[in-house]
Amino acid sequence: MAASRPLVGVLGIQGDIEKHLAVLDQIGADGRRVLAPKHLEGLAALILPGGESTTISKGLVRHELVEPIVAFAEAGGAILGTCAGAILISREAKNHPVPTLGLVDVTAERNAYGTQLDSFVAEADIDSDPGFIGMECVFIRAPRLSKLGGEIDVLMRVEGEPVLVREGKRLACTFHPELTQDTRVHQALLETLEG
Ligand code: GLN
Repeated sequence: MAASRPLVGVLGIQGDIEKHLAVLDQIGADGRRVLAPKHLEGLAALILPGGESTTISKGLVRHELVEPIVAFAEAGGAILGTCAGAILISREAKNHPVPTLGLVDVTAERNAYGTQLDSFVAEADIDSDPGFIGMECVFIRAPRLSKLGGEIDVLMRVEGEPVLVREGKRLACTFHPELTQDTRVHQALLETLEG
């Protein structure tokens, strides 16, 4: 069992920070907004929300968080990157490349669904991990993940595309799990703490 009420950080530069904190509270974790390296101390996990990856990337540099987040993950801290956050934790970003943290062995192609599909809601494919069947996924100018490394587990697909992948304690999610009532992606982050 994970410790009761693990402490989980939410990168506080941009995005649905309050909504992520509310989900964490709902599933029995304490949340903390992260805007400086000292805010990483004592965290079990860190969430990088969606937003605009170029802006967040610049914020990471400005707040001197790039090396500390990589060190946090390398020391065993769990990570969930959603949408722009998934782009930022990927090995590389394509289509208006942005510097990434290289924590998950995938390529993220930004805005991969084109302007006509700027945002849409879709249900997880039935061959997704059984734990995610029926999940409604909100995509907003979402990236597409490709060139998945050998250590990557695909937990959820939508129309055949990987939309939630895991590499050890690191999760990359191309949609916005904080925008529905379904808490399963956040719970999957907490479950990585149990192993
Ligand atoms: N399109 C954004 C990017 O490339 C991501 C969108 C999102 O996080 N909803 O950074």
